Amino acid sequence: MPKCKFYRECQSQAVTQMQHTNMPLCKTHFLRYMESRVMKTIETYKLINFQDPDEKVLVAVSGGKDSQTLLTILHQVLKNKVPMEALYIEIGISPDSYSHDSEKVAKQLCDDLGVPFHVLNVHDRVGYDMDKIHQLGKILTRGKSRSKNKRFRGECSYCGLFKRYYINFFAIHNGFTKVATGHNLTDEATQLLSNFFSVDTELMSRAGPSTSRGVEGLVDRIKPLFYIYETELILYSYYGNVPHLPTECAYAGDSPMIRVKRSLEKVESFRRGTMMNMVRDFQKQLRPILSKTIPEEKQAVNKCKKCGMTTYLEVCSFCRTENRLREDLQKYHIIEES
Ligand code: AMP
Ligand code: ZN
Ligand code: ZN
Repeated sequence: MPKCKFYRECQSQAVTQMQHTNMPLCKTHFLRYMESRVMKTIETYKLINFQDPDEKVLVAVSGGKDSQTLLTILHQVLKNKVPMEALYIEIGISPDSYSHDSEKVAKQLCDDLGVPFHVLNVHDRVGYDMDKIHQLGKILTRGKSRSKNKRFRGECSYCGLFKRYYINFFAIHNGFTKVATGHNLTDEATQLLSNFFSVDTELMSRAGPSTSRGVEGLVDRIKPLFYIYETELILYSYYGNVPHLPTECAYAGDSPMIRVKRSLEKVESFRRGTMMNMVRDFQKQLRPILSKTIPEEKQAVNKCKKCGMTTYLEVCSFCRTENRLREDLQKYHIIEES
């Protein structure tokens, strides 16, 4: 490894070379460089309004390396310039003690950094959890491909829907103006490529470091790690001693998205910077053009008849899915009728 090239005076041995620029960096300067890139994304895309006295950021923490590193970097770069708290959604995944251990490690980091930590327990809200949904999946799919099954869309789909809904729910009810998630460049490049495969121009035009919807009742979501590779986050968590749970969720399986990601990583291995160039140039060049082809929000904004949250429908998609799951869970005696 060559010498660190962060600035001329640094004579330390480099520990890594940047994926997209090849710049060699020592441990200290690698950590600082990562933090400065996250701050640059925040400033360039105005992810946080430092002038707004009401600005309050909720970091969605899962205990995994991405959101744990996000919290660590935000704590470092924001330096009390804006109030920041963390939320963990306890979704009830018991194999390998997954949810229990995830919560523990998320809380540990928040305690270390002095960031207020909140937990929202899904079972307390709806009376069932991911373990029960997994049991239902086994009955409804009988081992067949989940993507082809209309009654069961797969654990990850329900888990994602529940988490998105309750993160927004918590943020709205507690006066947060932004929700920060740990989505990284590798996630974004994978998503972009998948959406391109199905030529979903609407989804492609919505991809970006922030989803500023400007709709009351829907909190803005921000992705400060939008331009950071997953491999760089692994290195940051290693050199920065960021506590996190390295295990994968037992219900995740080998999804098509994971296979697209692996293919993209293969391309990245012989064309350094592919993901960065693709995502950055898409944001600069293609997204503005695509956005013009998408009609403005067609439907009026409503309050969900069941839960009162903001939706474009009469009953929100969370309530409709939750209702159907409950009916099936009762039908197969996985939970009792209420
Ligand atoms: P995933 O879709 O699991 O890769 O998660 C994407 C992002 O959602 C993470 O980086 C977190 O910011 C957030 N997230 C995932 N799981 C949870 C959870 N259980 N509680 C709170 N936030 C979560
Ligand atoms: Zn250095
Ligand atoms: Zn609803």
